[in-house]
Amino acid sequence: MQKMSLKHTTKTLVFLNEHHDNCTLCGRAFEKDDTTHLGYINDKTLVNIGNCCSGNLTETIIRHVFRKRVYEIPPNDTVLWRFMDFTKFVSLLSTSSLYFTRADLFSDPFEGAKGVLKNKKKWDKLYLEFFKSAIENPPEPEPEKEKKSKDYVTIEAKRLLSQLDSIGSRQQTETFINCWHENPYESEAMWKLYTSNLAQGISIKTTYYKLYRALNRNPSISIGRVNYIDYNKEFAGINDSFWYKRKSFEHEKEVRAIVKGFSSNGDYGKLIKVDLNILIDKIYISPTSPTWIIELVKDVLVKYGLNKKIEHSELNEKPFH
Ligand SMILES: [Zn+2]
Repeated sequence: MQKMSLKHTTKTLVFLNEHHDNCTLCGRAFEKDDTTHLGYINDKTLVNIGNCCSGNLTETIIRHVFRKRVYEIPPNDTVLWRFMDFTKFVSLLSTSSLYFTRADLFSDPFEGAKGVLKNKKKWDKLYLEFFKSAIENPPEPEPEKEKKSKDYVTIEAKRLLSQLDSIGSRQQTETFINCWHENPYESEAMWKLYTSNLAQGISIKTTYYKLYRALNRNPSISIGRVNYIDYNKEFAGINDSFWYKRKSFEHEKEVRAIVKGFSSNGDYGKLIKVDLNILIDKIYISPTSPTWIIELVKDVLVKYGLNKKIEHSELNEKPFH
């Protein structure tokens, strides 16, 4: 990324975030290493375009080298669920905020992991070679007399590798995550997995786009699908490891929102303001919850001025044979 221009404001950041993958003038999908230009054309329209259309630019804000996101953004109407206990539900309403948990506090020890420990030597070798080659081939060619000695290259590459390890551990405490379950239907397994007291379980139903809008289209919050990989065969990317989990978690069908980069200050999580009216589509009460819980939820909604539909879990419907 080039130096940030003063003209790169929240508005242009949001635009870039929402038009990341295609030329906004001709619609062409960007490919790896394409140059993309964020700027204005003669009628003052904001655009993010490729070299295909860059002749139309009258002002450039910033250029990027295109890289696909490692995570997939679900289609706008993708249905998402968040399961919680009654107390967490009340906290959601009273704070009007979503709770983002610090990454190192999840029970999954692979959260944010780059790989499995037995493959660490392979990883080290891979990145040592990568750093050596980067040091030996700087973007600006150097005069012959300044060519670096082999020893210098090795020592410097090792230093960068150890820096990479410490960044990896630090990312654990500087990344905050809020998790959702993608499913067009209510899922019995998820009720059991995500509520410690099933009888008091509550679920919020929303969609990807409602979640994005409820978080104020914030360009520093990334929302996307988790990739499930076999760590025996693959590594997660250096900056992208929080978008990967082990295959054994595939049933979670997780969509997560991630914020990075703020220091934790010892906090276990971050509360991020959310527009509850936009966020909440419907509220579901657990299949085993007694009727009085429904009344309680209704009272709480009135107290916080929310007019939302409450459904008793559809899993409660009676069959006939
Ligand atoms: Zn174009």
